[in-house]
Amino acid sequence: MFTTTTYSTIPTLSMPDAADSTSSRRGHLRQRARGYAGKMSKRSALHEATWPELHEAQRAVLLEVLIHGSRSRADLARRTNLSRATLMRLTRGLVELGLVTEGETLAPTGRGRPSEVLHLRPEAAYFVGIKLTGDALYAVVTDLHAKVLASDERVLESRAVEDVVRLVAEVVDGFRGQFALTAVGVCLAGDVTYEGDQPLVLESPFLGWGTVALAALVERATGLAASVSNDVQALTVAHHWFGAGVGCTNMALIAVGAGIGSGFVVNDHIVRGSRGHPGKVGHLLVTEHGPQCDRGHTGCVSAFVTIPAILQNSGNSELEQTIRAAAAGDEASDRALRDAGRALGTVVATLADLIDPQKVIITGEALAVARYSSAEMEASIRERLDPAAEAVQVELVDFDFADYAWAAAIGAIRHVI
Ligand SMILES: [Zn+2]
Repeated sequence: MFTTTTYSTIPTLSMPDAADSTSSRRGHLRQRARGYAGKMSKRSALHEATWPELHEAQRAVLLEVLIHGSRSRADLARRTNLSRATLMRLTRGLVELGLVTEGETLAPTGRGRPSEVLHLRPEAAYFVGIKLTGDALYAVVTDLHAKVLASDERVLESRAVEDVVRLVAEVVDGFRGQFALTAVGVCLAGDVTYEGDQPLVLESPFLGWGTVALAALVERATGLAASVSNDVQALTVAHHWFGAGVGCTNMALIAVGAGIGSGFVVNDHIVRGSRGHPGKVGHLLVTEHGPQCDRGHTGCVSAFVTIPAILQNSGNSELEQTIRAAAAGDEASDRALRDAGRALGTVVATLADLIDPQKVIITGEALAVARYSSAEMEASIRERLDPAAEAVQVELVDFDFADYAWAAAIGAIRHVI
């Protein structure tokens, strides 16, 4: 039932030749006619690049190449329902903008038509992704294909909104010397809702924030287009476009760590909810007997599966120590982890029953729990899954904390595209 994937989003760092990437691109990228474009003028033109205005059909073609890789024009015409002639015109525009190139490698024999194969130009744009926690800021720079090229980490000296925004701007400025940046994405543990296109942080308990128009503040401070998202939602979207969920029309992602959250994609769209609270699986009932969560529920998911719950239930002070102790035969540790696996299975089965996904991805800092107690998780899924449901494909995806920053960068890519 389970597959385990080592999905590395953080490859060896390699810096592009900034001067080259900048000069080759500036001639192609036009000023983008959205509200923030006018703010660019006060920044050095060498260190930023606005995203070009694309027609809807051009965007569709670009997304095909972005998400599914290099494609022949014939293939693209089929997938986008455009005539070859229309596609020719659209792709010529994308080539002129520097977003794609006509490749020659996919049809190596003499009789092929290699000029018809389109490749994304990953170096066409660079994006900053930032994950905020209550204590730290994690940042990465990615290219247009979401490959991580550089990273940074800072301690939060203050959680005051203006101080955090100032730190975001400082980190972004630190990247400007090497990359012509197009947009910045921020994600955080907290609820984010949308007023029209504008994301609004409703509450972030780790930062002690109430309602904050963070995207607007970051745009003002950095001069770049900015997106803001809940961190688990960002990770879900990231895996849907560039990670373990590529090709899934319907998928769910569960992130387990200090808390537990989920995100889901239905018919290729992330479910944002009507008030910014989708995917709240933390207090589903697992059993009427058991420990209490911090809200006082008996036997809910959070009473078993979060790192604090596992430590409480096992009497340990660290997750790794708990796993080592369990493997060495410590009963309390073993029981805490197996109970966590059962609770995780409850979440998987519930999501599978609700949205019928092709895949459920499990990731996060506490992923080792799913590995240790996979038998309990599987039994719990089997027990709770609707009899009519087919076996659900569960994929355990390796996690690094910088994955959230990678996901935030993908939020920025999606924001401008
Ligand atoms: Zn609870």
